[in-house]
Formats: sequence, structure tokens, C-alpha cells
Amino acid sequence: HKYRKELHLRKECNNQLVRLRGNIRVFARVRPITTEDGVGPGAENIVTFDPDDDGVLYVAQKGKEMSFELDKIFTPSATQEEVFRDVSPLITSCLDGYSVCILAYGQTGSGKTYSMEGIPSDPGINQRALRLLLSEVKERSSSWEHELSVSMVEIYNESLRDLLGSDPSNSLEIKILPGSVGELYVPNLTQRQVQSMEDINKILELGHKQRATEHTNLNTHSSRSHALLILTAKGRETSTGICSTGKLYLVDLAGSERVSRSGAAGERLREAQCINRSLSALGDVISALRSQQGHIPYRNSKLTYLLQEPLSREGKALLLLQVSPAEKNISESLCSLRFGDRVRAVELGAPSRKI
Ligand code: ADP
Repeated sequence: HKYRKELHLRKECNNQLVRLRGNIRVFARVRPITTEDGVGPGAENIVTFDPDDDGVLYVAQKGKEMSFELDKIFTPSATQEEVFRDVSPLITSCLDGYSVCILAYGQTGSGKTYSMEGIPSDPGINQRALRLLLSEVKERSSSWEHELSVSMVEIYNESLRDLLGSDPSNSLEIKILPGSVGELYVPNLTQRQVQSMEDINKILELGHKQRATEHTNLNTHSSRSHALLILTAKGRETSTGICSTGKLYLVDLAGSERVSRSGAAGERLREAQCINRSLSALGDVISALRSQQGHIPYRNSKLTYLLQEPLSREGKALLLLQVSPAEKNISESLCSLRFGDRVRAVELGAPSRKI
């Protein structure tokens, strides 16, 4: 009881700090045990929750219990709608001119695509976000005009591909917009305007079709590329003529599992190294932000370069850790939760580190 009380106190204190200085949140979503987990040894559920605190989860390992404290935890019974409700304020802030991102992080099979893309009968964050923004634009239309456009890209082996373009195998470059103060743009990237749900569904379907996925030993449908949906919201206040540009990046990251487990070799190994390189670059960017270093190494990977704006002190980011509750996935689940811990320390303003 004393421990819990202390935890609550600490959390309240953290929340105060977050309100003051934080712009990176960490949520976790624990998926249900599925038939793919099998039955018997390894398929046991080792993750439990605190009924009084939706920011704490426990992982049981060899009779010991480890606790993790995050900003919000979704249990296996959380619906797509419930998850979306908690991320929607972040999403609509792109209409106010913010650059924001949601990153689904976790090992293959942990539910990243389920959360972001969803399933046809129950769409995920991507479709719900676009739908919400359409209706929000309508609601604000008496005082603001907004134009929404969408791009979909994939980062595969450090090459950036246009999922809505006529040739997705073309590799695109990220450049600095001439005449701007370091604003990034991707020449020749297809941007489609969206005005209706019909437009949205067509775009999502095309992007989905063009996304390259193959098989690994680890799981039949493993994604070895990062998939990004990028929405640009250009606004103009009708009475004053004031303009704003906000961006929303919805990212289904490649599987975070370590190479050795997937039995990779040759081309597969190269893929795995590229994935790990960009995920570790993501960790490095976050560490640099945490230690308040002047230089943030965005350019070490295409992923972090593209996400430079939302991953800056002016942006807002949400890391959605996807966690498998099965015993056999414990080491990957712990890796993800520890990564989340590392990210969370950013908003808590950990003391700066001298190297
Ligand atoms: P990933 O994208 O991380 O590789 P998936 O999203 O493909 O993982 O999820 C793996 C499997 O688990 C899929 O069959 C998916 O439908 C199922 N799944 C994941 N999360 C949930 C959830 N919250 N509720 C029900 N099924 C889920």
C-alpha cells in the first residue's frame, strides 16, 4: 500500500512536470493473447495491471514482478475507439499549426499495424485520425479555411519510397526547402488532397497495396519497413488572413526485435541492420533531446530526419509501445518497456549529461 501511495505521489509530481515542460508522451497497449501465441509453455500471460492506476503495469519473470510506469496503459480489452479517444487531442493539434507524431513501436506481432491501420471491420488510428480532421475542419469553417493533404511513404533499407506514387521503388531524398529556415521537404513526393471519406479510403487502400512486406522466420507477417502517413494541414483564418501549417505523422515502425532471434542472413540481415539502425537513431535523438545537447543527430537515419519537426522541442510526440503479454516474448516486451522508460525521461527533464 505504501509503495502504491508513493508511486501515485511520484506520478502526480511527474505529471506536473510534464505539463510544464514535456512534449513526448509514452503510452503502452498490451494486446490480447492470440491463437498465434499457441497454448502451453510460453503462451502464459505475464503482464498484469493496477486496477487503481492506468499508468502502471507489472511484468512477472521467474517469480519476480517488475513494474513500469507510463503516461497511459491500454489493457487487452481496450477498443480501437478507446485508444483513439486518448490520442485525438494530439491529432487535432495539427490544425493549430503543430507538428505532431504518433509512433507505434514494438516487436513484430505486438499489434503495431492493428493499432495504426486496424482491420477492415474496425479501423485503427490512421483512418480515424483523417475522419476526425475532416469533421474538425468543417466545424471550424466559419472562421478558418483548411486544406488537408496526405502522403504515404515507406522507409525500407534506408530508402524512402512514395506509396502513393506511380513507381514506389523510386528512392526519394529529403531536402531543405530553399529560402526557408531549415524547413524540410521531399521533392516529387505525391500529396493527395482529401475532402471526403471516399478520398481517404482510396488513399489508404492504395498505400496499403503498395507497401512491401515479406516473411521472416520469426513471424509470418513481419514488417521490415517503417510506414508513415503524413498529413499536412494548411490553414488560413478568414478574418485576419493569418496562416498556419501543421503536420501529422502517423508511423507504423518496423519490428524492434533483435536480429539474432529472426535467424537473419544475407539480404534479411541487411534489412534487420537498417531497421535497427533507424530505431537506435531514434533512441539517440531522444537521448540528445534529454541531455539538452545542442546538436541533435537527426540526420543519422531517414526516419529521424523525416521526423525532425515533431521530434523537436517545438513538436509533440507520442510513443505507443505495443506489448505482447505472452511469456515467450518477455525479453522483447521488456526491451520495449525499457525503451519507453528512456523516452519518458526526456519530458521529466533529467539532468544534463556531460560526455
Ligand atoms: P505488428 O504490426 O506489430 O507486427 P499486428 O498488428 O500484425 O502486429 O498484430 C499481430 C496479430 O495480433 C494480428 O493478428 C492482430 O490482428 C492481432 N492483434 C494485435 N493487437 C490486437 C488487439 N488489440 N486486439 C485483437 N487482436 C490484436
